[in-house]
This record gives sequence, C-alpha cells and structure tokens, in this order.
Amino acid sequence: MTYTLTHYTTHGPVRGSCGHAHKTLAAARKCAAQDRRACARLGGGAYSDRQAVGIWTDKHGFERRDNEVAR
Ligand SMILES: [Zn+2]
Repeated sequence: MTYTLTHYTTHGPVRGSCGHAHKTLAAARKCAAQDRRACARLGGGAYSDRQAVGIWTDKHGFERRDNEVAR
C-alpha cells in the first residue's frame, strides 16, 4: 500500500487530535503549542500531550498517522 503525505495534524493519546488539516508541519506545531498553553491555563497540573504528526493518505482516501505508516 502506497501512502502519500497529504497534510499535518496534531495528536496525543490523552488529548486526541485537533481535527485540523494543517498544510505545513510548522502550522501543526503552532497548533500543538497553543493547545499546550490552553491546557496550562486550566491549572491543576493539566497539560497537553498533542504533538504535530504527518497524515498519510492512500488512493482510497484512507488516512494514517506517521507512526502507523511502515517506511
Ligand atoms: Zn490543529
């Protein structure tokens, strides 16, 4: 199966994904940083585990994250 890197998003096991399709890795990183700040403002030790990840799509539109794509 061939996957093409189509866009970026953010994902963390606890926080989940932001649901955005970021065009650049820089934009995804910025989004993750904003989420970290938003969580930090909540206090009580809350933090965000979101990280920028690449989204790879095959010809059927099936999407996988960086860590799920065998390369
Ligand atoms: Zn985002």
